[in-house]
Amino acid sequence: MVVHKARKRFGQNFLVDDSVIHNIISTFKPMKHDYVVEIGPGLSAITEPLIHSVNELLCIEIDRDLVKILEHKFSKYKNVRIIESDVLNFDFNTLNIGIRLIGNLPYNISTQLLFKIMEFSDQIIDAHFMLQREVVDRMIAQPSSSDYGRLSVMLQECYEIERLFDIRPDSFNPMPKVFSSFVRIKPLSFNRVRPKNYNIFKQLVTRAFSQKRKILKNSLGEWSKHLDWEALDLNSQIRAENLSVSKFIMISDFLHNKGLM
Ligand code: SAM
Repeated sequence: MVVHKARKRFGQNFLVDDSVIHNIISTFKPMKHDYVVEIGPGLSAITEPLIHSVNELLCIEIDRDLVKILEHKFSKYKNVRIIESDVLNFDFNTLNIGIRLIGNLPYNISTQLLFKIMEFSDQIIDAHFMLQREVVDRMIAQPSSSDYGRLSVMLQECYEIERLFDIRPDSFNPMPKVFSSFVRIKPLSFNRVRPKNYNIFKQLVTRAFSQKRKILKNSLGEWSKHLDWEALDLNSQIRAENLSVSKFIMISDFLHNKGLM
């Protein structure tokens, strides 16, 4: 038997609680025609129960030693492919559309990965991720709450996010210091109200939250002079944390229509 020593730098906390694994799989509801991409399969706690239930399973794992173990373990399965890669460098455009993502994500890259999946929201059916509970608090936060920020706005512009259940630290080996949450992320309809210029929207949200406590007028710098605050129904003392996603889209469209960028 090969023994793998968990590597901290890869955020390796392996799931060892069968009831949690069962909950994850039954909530994910794998289907025979699914094309599933698992991020960070590790020692295959989620991988194994998926194999017989889906059409194709692509696993992206950064740790070379784990890749060897996985390749050996799953070599007889034609529907499983293991790729050794840093998921942050992986080009999802090389995959078909209609993928389902799943992963017990390494905490150190979770925010970066969430920003990455925004780039291909039209390509995915859904994503089921296990993340640090505090990250999920920020993902689902609503305006005027302390957790509301750039991550909330950018994700909620393209995804519907649902916290499904929390997981205790003792469900993992080694035990993390924090609780985790399992979430479902589903792209919003293609026909939703989208920013006319996504690049402006992205820059606007970044600027607005760059100094969260500042009033919007100040954090937007020279852009604020071009805004018609009254027409946009914006109070001059408003802060980024008080603006809804749709308001961010309105402001971004206004800047776009003015031809500012
Ligand atoms: N899925 C397994 C489980 O639930 O027990 C392992 C989860 S562990 C929290 C995170 C996994 O992601 C590890 O296998 C780790 O090596 C892998 N990983 C870490 N950083 C990664 C990256 N940048 N790209 C791909 N995999 C990564």
